[in-house]
Amino acid sequence: MKKTKILLLYTGGTIGMIKDYESGALIPFNFDELLQKIPELKILEHEIETLSFEDPIDSSDMNPVEWEKIATIIYENYEKYDGFVILHGSDTMSYTASALSFMLENLNKPVIFTGSQLPIGDLRTDAKENLITSIQIAGLQKNGKPIITEVGLYFEYKLYRANRTTKINAEHFQAFASPNYPPLAESGVNLSIQSKSLWRQSRKQNLKLHTQLNDNIVILKMFPGISENVIKHVLNLDSLQGLILETYGSGNAPTDTWLVNLLEEKIKNGLKVINVTQCSGGSVVMGNYQTSLELKRIGVVSGKDITTEAAIAKLMYLLDKNLSLKVFKTIFETSLRGEML
Ligand code: ASP
Repeated sequence: MKKTKILLLYTGGTIGMIKDYESGALIPFNFDELLQKIPELKILEHEIETLSFEDPIDSSDMNPVEWEKIATIIYENYEKYDGFVILHGSDTMSYTASALSFMLENLNKPVIFTGSQLPIGDLRTDAKENLITSIQIAGLQKNGKPIITEVGLYFEYKLYRANRTTKINAEHFQAFASPNYPPLAESGVNLSIQSKSLWRQSRKQNLKLHTQLNDNIVILKMFPGISENVIKHVLNLDSLQGLILETYGSGNAPTDTWLVNLLEEKIKNGLKVINVTQCSGGSVVMGNYQTSLELKRIGVVSGKDITTEAAIAKLMYLLDKNLSLKVFKTIFETSLRGEML
């Protein structure tokens, strides 16, 4: 039987870090040394080829330029490999993986993000299981076709739809959660795939790469006592084109007239405002409470049950398409890659 070919890309993150003796801090280290620490890779039934960022980074330094690098590597190697595993720091993994889900339209092969809480050289590391199972998942096939055809995130025995995840813990090995969507697979003695939850493309089309992302956006988290002066300054920024409003509960915000009037004026002038809930689970339903009725009236877009990470990625992706508010709203409120209800 033909071996499946996997491309393993190392971007940085704890998985490949060592302690710098001078500062005591963790820093990324050489990828070849990392591979030597996992002799198990040689006995996997997949053909694995590896690539590394020239200068691996802590994922706190990730940004759309680095996302473009990752997406382009996948795009340019798409026909050569059956699946892709991306080693990435856990801190911003959900942001990068969400962005990749939008940047790679019509994806029909697995792109699995993983990393670890402890470096691969550490005795108690979680890196080996995360890496080995991610490779196995990326290599899963049925009748010669990949089983996973989306961007996934594998961590601590669970495979999630990447654009549904969020990092929830800096201590526990279970660092991620997907509050609004069930895991796609769980790894125990057997690998159990939840076929019904997997993303399936309605029509087969060629992979399309999108690299134009608009970063003129900001997140504004509501809190009791939020100041008119500060919000005015933020919303009056000339370059601002998109705003993610992190609201309370099912999409509620203070009803102060200055806030509603300011948002209304900015929306009329082209600002796209997305309502996303601060709650980790559940959905925005504007109009459920009187405290969200006005937001609905003035044209705020519902983020439904999207994560803030995926909302940022989707906003950057859609903003550059110069859509009218009506079209933008319709598209944003539609699930494009399984990121929302
Ligand atoms: N600071 C690290 C990073 O995100 C943490 C990790 O890899 O888990 O790159």
